[in-house]
Amino acid sequence: MRSRGGGLTMASGHTVLMRLVASAYSIAQKAGTIVRRVIAEGDLGIVEKTSPTDLQTKADRLAQMSICSSLARKFPKLTIIGEEDLPSEEVDQELIEDGQWEEILRKPCPSQYSTIKEEDLVVWVDPLDGTKEYTEGLLDNVTVLIGIAYEGKAIAGVINQPYYNYQNNEKQKLREHRKEAKAGPGAALGRTIWGVLGLGAFGFQLKEVPAGKHIITTTRSHSNKLVTDCVTAMNPDDVLRVGGAGNKIIQLIEGKASAYVFASPGCKKWDTCAPEVILHAVGGKLTDVHGNALQYDKEVKHMNSAGVLASLRNHDYYASRVPESVKNALVP
Ligand code: AMP
Ligand code: MG
Ligand code: MG
Repeated sequence: MRSRGGGLTMASGHTVLMRLVASAYSIAQKAGTIVRRVIAEGDLGIVEKTSPTDLQTKADRLAQMSICSSLARKFPKLTIIGEEDLPSEEVDQELIEDGQWEEILRKPCPSQYSTIKEEDLVVWVDPLDGTKEYTEGLLDNVTVLIGIAYEGKAIAGVINQPYYNYQNNEKQKLREHRKEAKAGPGAALGRTIWGVLGLGAFGFQLKEVPAGKHIITTTRSHSNKLVTDCVTAMNPDDVLRVGGAGNKIIQLIEGKASAYVFASPGCKKWDTCAPEVILHAVGGKLTDVHGNALQYDKEVKHMNSAGVLASLRNHDYYASRVPESVKNALVP
């Protein structure tokens, strides 16, 4: 801030929210390069958290350090909640990203968010969503998620997909990929999707599944009877089982799936915050299995205990088909 003619004007002319989104874009991109680099170097450093399907790798750790430190340095009054429990230590300067994506700074801030202060924002960080799949070489399932909440509501988000184009380029050969990743910092691989409620979502081409088709996307690594009961009750034409909450929302906005059904606890606020914004910005809906909105204030419990139900269109249809037995088992 600097003083001009007795009044205060913002030095940059941009609102806190748009500056934060512009930074989050560059920071998510940097995290994506870290995710690729760890694979290229070959030592994943896998740690089991609560179970054999709840993993953390060196990439989860480094990406979270990079994201949280970079955000905190530029926006010291933010509340930042990251998935990984890490010791607080000085972060290597090499992990800090200072850039702001110019294209975002050129967009207008929706007027209802123009006076938001830094201290009013909560940032939910999933440094690597789809870790189980990452360790198995299903690299296009992986995303980096930075979600921004205000007054308990998810209002802005960034999704980096470090291995977008991976299947096309690589024909699923992890070994070949390592060679390319060493040759250069990711070349044509990867993309970043971002959005703000009231402004829109960018970085992809919106596509819908053919009308009347019910294609359900659900978990690959965390299934159980409740999940399969709920999926079956949707009367699906097809069921896709893939990793990552971010990845599944991308399937919804790109016409690969019509609903994301996860009738189980296990998914957390950092999994849903950024993806929810992107989906809501294009007219979709993400709720729990009861059809209730999710809350993102800083005191909220992290677990989405009542599951996740998301769709681009016809949310009421999917919500109406959730069996009572599933609803009774999943208390918010
Ligand atoms: P999935 O669809 O299985 O990739 O899950 C989406 C997100 O929720 C990922 O970040 C998972 O790690 C997380 N998640 C879902 N279920 C569980 C679980 N039972 N334990 C740990 N994390 C889970
Ligand atoms: Mg996750
Ligand atoms: Mg994660």
